[in-house]
Amino acid sequence: MGKTGQTERKKQSEPEDSLKDIISLCKRRGFIYQGSEIYGGLANTFDYGPYGVELLRNLKNEWWHTFVSSRSDIVGLDSSIFLHPKAWEASGHLDSFHDPLSDCKHCQSRIRADQYLKERQDIDTESMSLSQIQAVFQEKGDSFHCPQCGKKGTFTKPRQFNLMFSTKMGSVLGENDMEVYLRPETAQGIFLNFRNISSTCRVNVPFGVAQIGKSFRNEITARQFIFRTREFEQMEIEFFCKPGTQKKWFDYWVDSCTKWLDSLGVCKKNLRLRSHEKKELSFYSENTVDIEYNFPFGWGELWGIASRTDYDLRQHSSHSKKNLNYFDAEKGENWLPYVIEPALGLNRLFLCILADSYHVENPETKEKRTVLKLASHLSPVKAGIFPLQKKDGLLEIAEEVHKKLYRSFAVELDSSGSIGKRYYRQDELGTPYCITVDYQTKEDQTITLRKRDSMSQKRIPIEEIHSYLLKKLQPSIC
Ligand code: ATP
Repeated sequence: MGKTGQTERKKQSEPEDSLKDIISLCKRRGFIYQGSEIYGGLANTFDYGPYGVELLRNLKNEWWHTFVSSRSDIVGLDSSIFLHPKAWEASGHLDSFHDPLSDCKHCQSRIRADQYLKERQDIDTESMSLSQIQAVFQEKGDSFHCPQCGKKGTFTKPRQFNLMFSTKMGSVLGENDMEVYLRPETAQGIFLNFRNISSTCRVNVPFGVAQIGKSFRNEITARQFIFRTREFEQMEIEFFCKPGTQKKWFDYWVDSCTKWLDSLGVCKKNLRLRSHEKKELSFYSENTVDIEYNFPFGWGELWGIASRTDYDLRQHSSHSKKNLNYFDAEKGENWLPYVIEPALGLNRLFLCILADSYHVENPETKEKRTVLKLASHLSPVKAGIFPLQKKDGLLEIAEEVHKKLYRSFAVELDSSGSIGKRYYRQDELGTPYCITVDYQTKEDQTITLRKRDSMSQKRIPIEEIHSYLLKKLQPSIC
């Protein structure tokens, strides 16, 4: 458990305010920028800046290290974003991966009809069919206000819209073009490679295949920053097990995922497990548990763990006419493995880590300090190095210290502005240590080391700084 997990998150007076503050910190410190900003922005697209990309990489590396590199029963994969269109027919995405949407005839904005009924009319829509949703809109629609323009009774009849983005693929423009889809999940690429991997990689069931990659869903987003976007990154595992053992493995994965979040320092109080009720389960799922996080706008799914039976392999086997059975050499039997799928959204994890580590100390006073109390293995910068002045040889000594450290740690030399401002900047970046080179350094070759969380300072010899950081920083993977 990292340091951040020990204290409860200090939220601002209003949760929405704390989300606004986090968004503003992300922009100001180069974590996340609005996509296509110089053209006025493209709604709901985000670009990860120099510090954001480091935090993303640290999260990916931690996940990969825990679930792939340090285990002998999980292997990695990087499959294509485009799959053969028949794959989406087989998986059920062409027929069933849709949301009921309705348009405002006045301002043309689009809403998710089921969510509108749930959130604004307090109707339980979980198990409602499209025709039932349409019936409610027909009966009561005249009194529904558009959340965008406020006009009353302007909604069209809800219709199902597929969430997959499609495009055309072909060697000659317009001729024999094939409609292809940007994958809405990374999972199917794993199922399509099950036969390849099990026949070439000496893996025996139970084993898993892990993949990190972009997914795309054309869904209605609700201004919750990076929580729900149309382009996002997933970190998924398909864990293949013998039929009959799926309950044991399901429990194992819920537990492993929870423990991993703990190792990142996520505060336990901000996490909860939510089991899907029977009527809520996806058609392929026998059991699903969501690990939810208490985001600044409320509880939301972070990580979904689903027991997918043999649905996907069975479907692909029947649609491709290929035998996807696993041969159990011990028993001399052939069978289709069952699958447990822990599916995590990297961008949601990023938001969870930011929200969890975001602290404002002494908010109403002159000593106000904003600090990201990130676990040190996640911090984009491990130490800031500051010469007190650029003159009198201090900059040169700071450069020497930088030289000693930069091959082992992500360190940053900063010589501009007051020391206070430099500390403040690194606190907002979540940097665990700051090193200051001052006039005493010239006399006794010691530097001041300041800790981010306690702000305590002590002097240590330049000679010892490398081994000190090595000992104190949580081991990082890369
Ligand atoms: P939701 O109910 O929030 O739409 P989901 O149940 O459809 O999510 P899954 O298909 O289980 O999500 O995908 C696995 C994970 O991928 C989710 O737990 C979430 O972290 C992430 N994810 C899904 N959709 C999005 C999105 N539009 N933007 C960002 N992350 C997403």
